Amino acid sequence: MSVKGTLYIVSAPSGAGKTSLVKALLKQDQQVRVSVSHTTRDMRPGEQDGVDYNFVTMDMFDGLIAQKQFLEYADVFTNKYGTSQVWVKSELDKGIDVILEIDWQGAEQVRQLMPDAVSIFVLPPSQGELRKRLTGRGQDDVSVIDLRMSQAVSEMEHYPEFDYVVINDDFDIALTQLQAVLTAQRLQRDVQCVRHADLLKDLLSV
Ligand code: 5GP
Repeated sequence: MSVKGTLYIVSAPSGAGKTSLVKALLKQDQQVRVSVSHTTRDMRPGEQDGVDYNFVTMDMFDGLIAQKQFLEYADVFTNKYGTSQVWVKSELDKGIDVILEIDWQGAEQVRQLMPDAVSIFVLPPSQGELRKRLTGRGQDDVSVIDLRMSQAVSEMEHYPEFDYVVINDDFDIALTQLQAVLTAQRLQRDVQCVRHADLLKDLLSV
């Protein structure tokens, strides 16, 4: 019997540093991959199609829904986002852990379909720091920042639905904590019993 991969859901308000944390985690952990979502939103400077997202039109997105290609999908602000079902399931079947960087609505859908998924919510250390991070991104005026802040608070209201909470104050500490969740999961007895079946049989033989 082989060990299947674990599905991790990582959610956070915009500006909490979720994407940077996940990128850093992937660099140091070869057993985990991140799912590249489909989105109808415009590509931002520096983003690459097929790397950051699969950028699609509204019609293409609706076609993928009709073909039941998504494990979950949701409207986030004014755009649609969805996770490819086939890719996620094939990675998990190969024993590879998968991270979904999705919003709370997607997290809710995935939890219902895959109750073994482990969910982590990343929070900023304070509202002031979050505002600073959201402001630091560009030249947006106060009303745009205020809107982002209220959207962030709405997202953060969902932290109680998650298994773990990581506060991203010091980036390296937050990264260590994120890695600790994955490590603890891999050390669970059920998982270890399958992974080290021969060793355990041998250790208990007289
Ligand atoms: P952004 O457009 O800033 O990259 O992401 C906006 C929000 O959409 C973030 O909260 C992000 O986690 C969420 N998101 C990205 N991909 C998906 C997805 O496949 N499904 C869902 N439900 N949310 C997603």
